[in-house]
Amino acid sequence: MFHNARSDIMNRMSQKVVIERVELRGAAPFLGMGTLPSGEQAPTYSANPDIVMDWLCDAWRCRFNQLRSRRKKWDRYKEQLVPIGYAVNEWTDRQARMECSWLAAVPAMVLQSPNRIENTEWWAANKRRKTLKKQGKNPGSMPRFKKKHERKYFVCWHNKGANANYHQFNRHHGEVVIAGQNPSQYRLGGQGCRWSLHIRIRVSQPIRDYTSVGVDWEARTLVFINTPQPVERAMTGAMVGIDRGVKHTLALSDGAFQDLPKGKLEKIDREIRRRQKAQARRVKLSGQTGKEYRKHPSNMYRKTRQEIKDLHAKAHNIIADWQHKATTRLVRDYDIIVLEDLKLDNMSRKAKAKPDPDNPGKWLPNGQAAKRGLNHGLRIAALGGITQKLAYKTSLTGTNRLILVNPAYTSQTCSQCAHCSTGNRKSQADFQCQQCHMRMNADHNAAINILKRGYDHLLGLDEAERANTEQDPPEANRNHQASVRARKTSATQ
Ligand SMILES: [Zn+2]
Repeated sequence: MFHNARSDIMNRMSQKVVIERVELRGAAPFLGMGTLPSGEQAPTYSANPDIVMDWLCDAWRCRFNQLRSRRKKWDRYKEQLVPIGYAVNEWTDRQARMECSWLAAVPAMVLQSPNRIENTEWWAANKRRKTLKKQGKNPGSMPRFKKKHERKYFVCWHNKGANANYHQFNRHHGEVVIAGQNPSQYRLGGQGCRWSLHIRIRVSQPIRDYTSVGVDWEARTLVFINTPQPVERAMTGAMVGIDRGVKHTLALSDGAFQDLPKGKLEKIDREIRRRQKAQARRVKLSGQTGKEYRKHPSNMYRKTRQEIKDLHAKAHNIIADWQHKATTRLVRDYDIIVLEDLKLDNMSRKAKAKPDPDNPGKWLPNGQAAKRGLNHGLRIAALGGITQKLAYKTSLTGTNRLILVNPAYTSQTCSQCAHCSTGNRKSQADFQCQQCHMRMNADHNAAINILKRGYDHLLGLDEAERANTEQDPPEANRNHQASVRARKTSATQ
C-alpha cells in the first residue's frame, strides 16, 4: 500500500486481482458458425459464461496470430527475410470479422488490443536479442505465434470508459463489465443484440486509473494495466551520490544509510540452510546420488523442497518491497541521483584474492570467505534491482535524472583532499586519510566521491579525467598492480 506523497510515483503500476466468478447478462453472444450433426452450417450461441470467456480468449489469440503472421524472419537457407506465417494475413479488424464468423461479435476494444501488444512484443524481442548478441550471449528466438495450449488470455482496452468499466460494490468486491453486441444478421428471435459479461473480482485496495484490463482465464486473475505516463513531482533542487555495498546497502552522500531488513533476511536464511541440510541427509541415507534420489524422492523431501522454494520467494518479496520503498523515497527527495556503474557479475564471482583491510599486508584466504557471508547472492541481486528501479522511476518523472559514474577508487580516495591510497581504508567500515587525517565512515566517504563524480559528469569534466587516469594511474592502482605482479612471481618460484 502506498499513501500520500509516495503515491504520486507509485500509482502508475498495474494491479492484479482475483476473479471470483463471471456472469452473463442480455443476449447470448454469437460464437460463430458451427457445423450441425447433419453437416449443415448454423450460427451458435452460448449463455454459459465459462464458454463465452473461452471464446473471447480464443478469438483474441486468433486475431493476435493473424497480425503476427505479417512479421518476417531471417531464413538462412534462402538468405532473405520471409514471413513467419504460412499464409500472411493483412486483414483489417473489419475484414477479419467478415471472414471469420467467430470474431464477428467480439467487442472492438478486445479485437483492437492485440495490435499494439503484438507490436510491442515484437520490437522488445528485437531489442533484447540485439543486447544479448552484443554481450556474446545466446540471443534466443523471435516470438512466434500464440499456441493453443498457452495460457487462455485476452486483453480489453478501457479507452477512457469505452469498455471494460470497473464498478466497486463495497470494500472488497467489484466488477469489470465487458460489453458487446451480436451482429444484426445473427440476432436471435425475441432477444436484443447486446450482451454484457460481468467479471466479479475481489479487491484489497482502491483501483487506480488504468488503460486496459488483461484477463488470465487460466489463473482466474485480472490485471488493470497502466501504460506509464510522466509523473508530476515538485523539484527539490537536491542532488545525491549513493554508494551501494554489502555492509550498508545504500550509503548516501549526506550521511544517511538505508539498509535491507537484515534481521528478517537472516532468519529466512537460517531456515533455508536448516532445510537444505535435512535434504542432504535424506539423500545420503538413501545411498543414492542426488540426481538418482531426486527422480523418486520421498514425500518429506518433496515437502521440504516446496518449503525452501517458498522461503526463497519470501526473501525475494522482502527485498523487492524494500527496493521499491527505498527507490521511491530517493526519486521523491532528490532531483539528480548519482550511482556507480557497478559490474555486479564481478562482485558475486568467487575466488578472487583481496587484501585484508583489517590486517594490512595480508591477504584474505581466497576471497571466498568474504563472499560466503550471509545472503551474499541475494544482497548482490538487490543492488542490481536498485539501479533498474531507479532508472525506471526517474524516467517517469521527467524532472529526475540518474547519472552512472565510473566506480574506480571511490572507496580509497579521500573525499576531502583527494588523496588516493589503499592505506586510507583502516577497516571495512572505517576510512582515515593518510594525508589530511580526515576520518569518516568508509561508505559515506565513497558516496561523497560518487557525488563529486556526478558533478564532474554534469560539467563534462569526466571525459578529460578518464583520459588522465588512463595515462597516469593513481597511486592505489600502481600499488595494486605491483602487488599482483609480486604475487605472480612468488607463485612461479
Ligand atoms: Zn585526505
